[in-house]
Amino acid sequence: MVILRCRFLTINLAPLRPSHFHSQKLHHTTRFFRTPNLISTPRITTSSSLPTTRSISDEARFARSVLFVPPGVEVEELTDDMVLPGSNIVIGPFAGHSQIKQVEFVKSSARARDCPKDDLPEIAILGRSNVGKSSLINCLVRKKEVALTSKKPGKTQLINHFLVNKSWYIVDLPGYGFAKVSDAAKTDWSAFTKGYFLNRDTLVCVLLLIDASVPPQKIDLDCANWLGRNNVPMTFVFTKCDKMKAAKGKRPDENIKAFQQIIRENFKQHPPWILTSSVSGLGRDELLLHMSQLRNYWDQ
Ligand code: GDP
Repeated sequence: MVILRCRFLTINLAPLRPSHFHSQKLHHTTRFFRTPNLISTPRITTSSSLPTTRSISDEARFARSVLFVPPGVEVEELTDDMVLPGSNIVIGPFAGHSQIKQVEFVKSSARARDCPKDDLPEIAILGRSNVGKSSLINCLVRKKEVALTSKKPGKTQLINHFLVNKSWYIVDLPGYGFAKVSDAAKTDWSAFTKGYFLNRDTLVCVLLLIDASVPPQKIDLDCANWLGRNNVPMTFVFTKCDKMKAAKGKRPDENIKAFQQIIRENFKQHPPWILTSSVSGLGRDELLLHMSQLRNYWDQ
């Protein structure tokens, strides 16, 4: 097993710079009113919104730019044991009740407006085809074959809602970047899934899955940038972190570091990130705990 010095991967931050997303309009006013400061979610940086007069220490400023500090936690009071192992995520007072006791498939929807209308919070899972999305969902819910509905390339791509503990949804979104799908089909995916992100007020966060066994992929970076530009809160979930170094390839920690370096160039604050493996179970409980604090804060 590769030993990942994950907590330090975001250290050596490049100087903060305004993102190139300046002129983007903010969307989802309602949602972001309800989640006013899920801190390290990728905010659009504008020069006018940069904190100029806050008197926080350099250390605190550094911690805030590296870590995901949830509501209810004072940066100055941070201690090492508040950071989830294998992540940059601080656990705060909203975390709790994270285990999944019950899960049931509710429906597949072709459009955002067909999705369930019961106002329960939801966490969507998104990633390139083959990133390990089905495996991760099955690992989280500890059930085989839950996340198969949107699997086949070329088949109708649907938004799949799974009700968890009768109180929130995991949403399985169609994978992107199928090698064999035509440009037209890719565009359809785009319009369809973008519609979901832009219109779903109950969306708490997107887990954007990134395959740690391969170098950074343009399509993943494009997706992250698009979510960032549109103020959609996201968490990077690095998958397949158990994989040993391939004959020619780089190790997962090298790939992750390279990905984070690129992200830092576009985001003022690094979004939350966490290392996982569906094979070894690495990061499973930690990810569930993180999801619980996002949800509970949204739901208060
Ligand atoms: P999806 O297309 O994103 O749903 O990806 P799958 O869950 O079907 O996984 C794609 C491939 O990656 C399969 O061969 C899985 O066995 C493999 N895979 C998924 N997760 C992991 C993981 O955590 N570690 C390793 N080593 N392989 C994984």
